[in-house]
Amino acid sequence: MTKHPASTALPTIAGFRAAALRRGVFLAWLLVIGLIAIGLSQPDIEDYRPLLTVAAGFVVLLALGTAANWDALMQRSSGPWLAWAWLTLLAVGFGATATAEGMFLVTMPAFAGVLVLSGLSLEPVRHAVVASVVVLIIVLSIVPPDPIISPQEAAIPLITAIVVAAATGFFGLEHTREATRSYVRLEELNSQRADFERLYAVTATLAGADSLAEGLPQIVGTICRYLGAQVGVVFLYHPDDHTLKVMSPMWVNEHTLDVGDIKLPISTGGIVPQVFRSGKPILLDRVSDSPEQFGVIGELGLREAMVAPLRVEGFNVGAIAVGDPLAEAFHEDQLEVFASLAAPAALVLSQLGRYEAAAEMTRRMQEIAQMKTDFVSVVSHELRTPLTSIIGSLDTVNRPELSPDLAKDLLDSARRQAGRLQRLIEDLLMVSRIDRKAIPVAMETVGIRQVLIDAADTIQSDEDITISVQPPSLQVTGDPDHLRRVFINLLENAVKYAPGSPVELVARPFRDRIDVDVIDHGDGIPPGERMRVFEPFTQMERSDTRTKGGTGLGLSIVKGLTEAMSGRVTVSDTPGGGATFTVSLQPAGALLATERGRV
Ligand code: ADP
Repeated sequence: MTKHPASTALPTIAGFRAAALRRGVFLAWLLVIGLIAIGLSQPDIEDYRPLLTVAAGFVVLLALGTAANWDALMQRSSGPWLAWAWLTLLAVGFGATATAEGMFLVTMPAFAGVLVLSGLSLEPVRHAVVASVVVLIIVLSIVPPDPIISPQEAAIPLITAIVVAAATGFFGLEHTREATRSYVRLEELNSQRADFERLYAVTATLAGADSLAEGLPQIVGTICRYLGAQVGVVFLYHPDDHTLKVMSPMWVNEHTLDVGDIKLPISTGGIVPQVFRSGKPILLDRVSDSPEQFGVIGELGLREAMVAPLRVEGFNVGAIAVGDPLAEAFHEDQLEVFASLAAPAALVLSQLGRYEAAAEMTRRMQEIAQMKTDFVSVVSHELRTPLTSIIGSLDTVNRPELSPDLAKDLLDSARRQAGRLQRLIEDLLMVSRIDRKAIPVAMETVGIRQVLIDAADTIQSDEDITISVQPPSLQVTGDPDHLRRVFINLLENAVKYAPGSPVELVARPFRDRIDVDVIDHGDGIPPGERMRVFEPFTQMERSDTRTKGGTGLGLSIVKGLTEAMSGRVTVSDTPGGGATFTVSLQPAGALLATERGRV
C-alpha cells in the first residue's frame, strides 16, 4: 500500500503555494508603489508621513518576500506556518495603511488580494485566522470615537471580504484535495510501473533458460537482486510423496550452492509448508532468535526472511523464500513486490519442470528400450551357453566308445548346467514377483550367524570368507529363505568381482537395527553407479562384467527381498578399495511388535 503523504509534503501543492505567494509579492509591490505615489502626490505631505512610514516598512517586508525562496520554504514542514505568518503580516500591514484618512477604499483591493492568496495557500484554520484579521481591521475602522468610515460604508467591503475568504478557502481546499489524490495516484502508477518493469525483467531473464538447472539460479538470483536479499531458495511440490523439495542450487550472495536432497513433508508445521498450504506470502523477522521454529529457513543463518507461494493457474506448485542475515532487510511493502515476482517465476519454473519431466521420461523410455535389448541379448546368451553345453554333453554320452567315468563327468556337467538354467529361470520369476510385489514373506526370528554360514557354504568358493557376528547369538527378524538368498547373491558377487581377495561378513547391532556388511576388496562400485546397480538387468559397463557373465538380476533380487522384509540395502566403499554392501535388518523383537500390531 502506498502511504498517503501529509499534504504539506506534496511537491505539487508546495509548488502551487510558492507560485501563489510569489505572485502575491509582485502584486503587493504594485500596491505599495501606488500607496507611495499617492502619499508623495499629496500637497500636505506632513499628513501622510505615517502612511509613508508604513509604506517604507512594506518596502522592507516585500524586499524580504522577493528574496525568499518560496519553493524551498513551502517544501519544509514549517512552510504552511511561514505562509500564514507572511499573509498575516501583509493583512496587518495593509490594515495599518487603511487607518489613514481616505485610504480605506484604496486598501480594499489589497485586502481582497491577501484573502485570495490566503485561501489558496493555507489550510482552512490558518485561512480563517487571516480572514478574521482582515474582518477585524474593517470592523475596527468603524469604531468610534474617530471612525474612518461609517457602518454603512463598511458593510459592502465587509461582506465582500467574507465572501472572498469563503470562496477562495473552498477552492483552495478543493485544489489541495485534488492535488493529494493526483499525487497518490501518480505514486501508485509509478510503483505499478516499477513492478511491471521488474516483472518484465524477471520474465525476460527466465525466457532464455531452457532447463531447470540453468533457469533456477537465474530466477532466484534476479528476484534476490531486486529485493536486496542475500539468500534465495525455491521449493517445488512433489505430488507423489506430498513433499516440498528444496531445489538445488540455492542462491547465496551472488553464488550458487548445491544443497543436496532435502524434502519437507507438506503436513509438517514449518513455515514453508504453512505458506504453501495457505497460499499467503509472509514476512518473518527475528528468524535467528528461535531458528528451530522456522525449519529449513532457520537453518540458513538468516535474520529476516520472506516466503511466498508459487502458484500457477490457481494451483500451488511450490514456494520461494528469500532471506538476509541483516535486521530490517525487508519491509512490508516488499512482500507485495515479492509475491508479484513469484508469479512469473512460478509459471516458468513449472514449465521448466514439465519440460524436464518430459525429457526425463524420454530418457527413461530410451533406457528401458536399451535395457530390453540388453536383456534379450544377455538372457539369450545365458540360456544358450548352458543349453549348448547340456546338448553337447548328452550327444557325447551316447557314444559307445565312451568310458563310464567320462560319461559320469559329462552327466555331472550337464546337471550343473541345468542347475544354472534353473537358477536363471528362478531369478527371472523372482524379479517378476518382486515387480508385482507378490513375494510371499514368512517372517520369524532368525539367528543371523547360521544364515551367513549357510550362505558361505552354498557358494563353495575358494576365496577366504570370514564371518564375524557380535554378539554371536545376534538375531534378526526376517524370512530365513530370503535372507539366505540375499547373502548368497552378495557373496557370489563379492567372489566374482573381487577374485583372489578375502571376503568378510560382519554382523552387529547399529542403532535400532542389525547391520550386516558384505565386504570385498575388489574394484568397488563408483558412486555414480551405486543406485543403478540395484535396478534389474543392470550391469556396469566394465570390461570384466561381460567376461564374468551374469544377468544383472542378482542385486535387484537382493534389494527386492530385503525391502520385502522391511530392510534396506546400500553400497559404499571398503576402506583401501572394494565394495561394502550393508544389509540393514529389523532386530528380533520387531516380529513381536508386528504381530501385536496385527492383533
Ligand atoms: P550380475 O549378474 O551382473 O552380477 P548383479 O545385479 O548382481 O548382476 O550386479 C549388477 C552389477 O553390479 C554387476 O554387473 C557388477 O558390475 C556390479 N557389482 C555387483 N557386485 C559387485 C561387487 N561386489 N564389486 C564390484 N562390482 C559389483
